[in-house]
Amino acid sequence: MSFQGDVIGWVATHRRHHAFTDRPGDPHSPYRYGTHLRGQLRGLLHAHVGWLFRNDRTPPERYAPDLLADRDIRAVARAFPALCVLTLALPFAAGWAIGGTWVYGVTALLWAGLVRIALLHHVTWSVNSLCHMIGERPFRTRCHDRATNLWLLALLSFGESGHNLHHADPTSARHGVDRGQLDPSAAVIRLLERLGWVHDVRWPTADRVAARRA
Ligand SMILES: [Zn+2]
Ligand SMILES: [Zn+2]
Repeated sequence: MSFQGDVIGWVATHRRHHAFTDRPGDPHSPYRYGTHLRGQLRGLLHAHVGWLFRNDRTPPERYAPDLLADRDIRAVARAFPALCVLTLALPFAAGWAIGGTWVYGVTALLWAGLVRIALLHHVTWSVNSLCHMIGERPFRTRCHDRATNLWLLALLSFGESGHNLHHADPTSARHGVDRGQLDPSAAVIRLLERLGWVHDVRWPTADRVAARRA
């Protein structure tokens, strides 16, 4: 519903980003054009949104064969166009139902539909661009990997901006592992776990976090 492509394509691109982080082959690294000022600015734009317009397809057969083999996930991926319609139709319908006229429907479509999607896109893109350039790096990542923690984006990104920890420990269910770090996504996973809907969640234990500290 976030208008970010079908789930299998999303995962494939994301895994490729992890496989080649900030090296040639990374679909969206801000270091693509070097580290001098001009190259860095160009790289920032590329990592933020430019990469989406390049002809650089990530083959799901190679990066997400497990998802391609999963019937349910394939159905969700196929439903992507319908979900795009739904993510706009729902606010329109809610606006109309609450306000009573189509004008309210269009107003809700604008703010709770188009503006919401645009803002969320910029937050997601900022994790790809800003969270590989500015912020803190309290955890050890692989060579070349420049992922950072950017507290400013923590709430807006639902915790995703704890990106340095995420790259240091990609399977950790919580990105904001330090005191006072917000991570609403981890809270949602915890709730789903309590409801019994998810299992085998990999929570960051104290040892696990300490072992990855820089
Ligand atoms: Zn990253
Ligand atoms: Zn990741």
